[in-house]
Amino acid sequence: MSDLAPDIVEFAREPDRIALDPPVEGGGCHAGADVLREATNKAQGSELLDRYAADYPVGPHDQPQSMCPAFGSLRVGLRMRRTATVLSGSACCVYGLTFTSHFYGARRTVGYVPFSSETLVTGKLFEDIKEAVEDLADPANYDAIVVTNLCVPTASGVPLRLLKKQINGVRIIGIDVPGFGIPTHAEAKDVLAGAMLAYAREEVAQGPVAAPAVRPDKPTVTLLGEMFPADPVGIGMMLEPLGLAAGPVVPTREWRELYAALDCAVVAAIHPFYTASVREFEHAGRKVVGSAPVGIDGTAAWLDAIGAACNVDPAKIDAAKDKFLPAIKAALAANPIKGRITVSGYEGSELLVARLLIESGADVPYVGSACPRTVWSDPDREWLEARGVRVNFRASLEQDIAAVEEFQPDLAIGTTPVVQHAKQKAIPALYFTNLISARPLMGVAGAGSLAQVVNAAMANKARFDKMSAFFEDVGTGPNAGIWTDTPQDRPQFKKKYAALNEAARKAAEAVGS
Ligand code: SF4
Repeated sequence: MSDLAPDIVEFAREPDRIALDPPVEGGGCHAGADVLREATNKAQGSELLDRYAADYPVGPHDQPQSMCPAFGSLRVGLRMRRTATVLSGSACCVYGLTFTSHFYGARRTVGYVPFSSETLVTGKLFEDIKEAVEDLADPANYDAIVVTNLCVPTASGVPLRLLKKQINGVRIIGIDVPGFGIPTHAEAKDVLAGAMLAYAREEVAQGPVAAPAVRPDKPTVTLLGEMFPADPVGIGMMLEPLGLAAGPVVPTREWRELYAALDCAVVAAIHPFYTASVREFEHAGRKVVGSAPVGIDGTAAWLDAIGAACNVDPAKIDAAKDKFLPAIKAALAANPIKGRITVSGYEGSELLVARLLIESGADVPYVGSACPRTVWSDPDREWLEARGVRVNFRASLEQDIAAVEEFQPDLAIGTTPVVQHAKQKAIPALYFTNLISARPLMGVAGAGSLAQVVNAAMANKARFDKMSAFFEDVGTGPNAGIWTDTPQDRPQFKKKYAALNEAARKAAEAVGS
């Protein structure tokens, strides 16, 4: 913490000794989610996990396999100016999370309050968190400090809700982001965005707040969901004939944008999984419109929906459509995509990408999203299903891979393991997060943006076939390589050692208790 901690602490502290239940150790994302849920309910009451279960339902499929969910909220906090981030959790989780955030260019310090069984069980961990927050709370440096309980402190009931709401004018936001309550990192973004909106909404209710840096002279549309930086600009141009302007993108990049986001005419749920954030907007009396202005049909329907929500004169909506739809049509026609493509990912924008691919000419038989079905993705789901696309919410890795096997696409767009599987089968593949969602998707700019990368990838099929043929005789799995005596797989040995390991683990646990 020392590199984050300024020297100024201007108030007396009372040590807390909060009696906690025995600590919950181990488990986490690799085992015992039920045990951790039970422990959390016992330590914190059932309200927290009940709310998460309602906001982020896991049916009809099991919890998808993706990175630690806390990465989503961590990234949202790290991207906000004048916001400090403090994690409380197991060292291995924090190592993974900080590694990943710096891999993705965080360039910001991640604070960490370590714990041991003793500090967890005696309440000293909470005191340590409190001390860290108090040391950090310098209004010259920060507007807000975000403290995140990871799996073990959540299950042990470390009571972040008891942190002061503000210290020296610095807002303190405590959130629980356990892997056994939040299914994906996408939804963890909503946990933090929702908590910040709730805080900002209370501030607005109490009196005047800071004005936004830039204030449009028209009613605004708040854009919910992270998107390519050019997209809000393009959306703003399409809103202009309606007498509207693009408002802030939530999650925001600075605190006062939250006030501007709340002060909108309507919210566009571009990414459809921000349930807690939508709740805050609805509490603030704002309407929420689903889907997004992608392709011809998507843009037309979205402009209609936004216009209707803001009581815009239909002639103005028609004027916007007359101006932009022909340009989108021309861009799609100039950048055709021919081929069969399966789409899967965990960003929440998978359905929008599929719509754009189909309007570009591609055959898309399958879309899998790790995110849940919501009312805000219904227009996209209905549009896709009307074209025979199988749409799979809360898709598991196995289901995404099975779709690649079933449809034998010319290109598989997906998560890393899906891409790896496809490439092993000599099917060209693109990683959704880095190569697809890092492009404009909306309006005219989005209409032609996918063709180049998608067509280039599909054109690589011959190279995959050549590589496959070249390596054809080198075997796979345990006998991969060139051998004098080809190794034989021995599944019975693996089974035996797995059983011995399990017995040793149980014996060690029995000694521990
Ligand atoms: S905090 Fe993340 S990495 Fe750690 S146990 Fe929970 S889900 Fe797994």
